[in-house]
Amino acid sequence: MKIIPLSEGTFTVDKSKRFIPFDKEKENLQERPAGSLLVEIQPFCVVTGNDIMIIDTGLGFSNANGTLQIHQNLLDNGINPMEVTKVLLSHLHKDHSGGISKEDKALHRKFLNFPQAKYYVNKNELAAAVEKKDSSYSTGEFDILANSDQVIFVEGDGMIDDYIRYEVTGAHSPFHQVFWIEGDTQKVFFGGDVAPQLQQMKNRFIAKYDSDGKKCMELRQQWWQQGQQESWIFLFYHDIKSPVFNAKQA
Ligand SMILES: [Zn+2]
Repeated sequence: MKIIPLSEGTFTVDKSKRFIPFDKEKENLQERPAGSLLVEIQPFCVVTGNDIMIIDTGLGFSNANGTLQIHQNLLDNGINPMEVTKVLLSHLHKDHSGGISKEDKALHRKFLNFPQAKYYVNKNELAAAVEKKDSSYSTGEFDILANSDQVIFVEGDGMIDDYIRYEVTGAHSPFHQVFWIEGDTQKVFFGGDVAPQLQQMKNRFIAKYDSDGKKCMELRQQWWQQGQQESWIFLFYHDIKSPVFNAKQA
């Protein structure tokens, strides 16, 4: 299995839920707004014998030349976005769903950014996200999912193609889900926003932004323990320093 972090950069985010680019070289950490969090926004590409997968899709920002950054990151790694076979979505908050689709302004139509891929999304998460007028969601980014034949709706816990396991956790968003990709020798774990950063796995920490912060903390502890016993490879979507962490190092 090959794992490629597809970082869109480092951002500050505060209660307004706006993500503002942060330049680590130039800006002073101390000077960012009080109460704001510093996060990486980092989708992943996982290449297996069967699939080229994208896990969550980032903010969907484009480069100066108009190319979607997640596409450029793939191209820089020798992968054509047309070759992506699966897009796995943990939940639909805007920093995870922004890269799902893009609107063509002239045609007044949205297009999925991975035209050959199946998109795996929890049915109830989509329903809740559309219904909830919550600033964490930006409906225009994902409403295309409701009527696309590229979408596979999942519910509850289950398996995809006998090697990708998904489990609904809730606790962060109403129907947040996590994934394990099980190779012959490696087990890769993506805990989405329930397990967004390495440091949170090591400390007992209840976050205000989770709908059930205590449950998130308990899940992290459980995964951290099990991950070490089973040598999981953790993918941390919001970690600035350690996007990929092999539990053997712990
Ligand atoms: Zn989230």
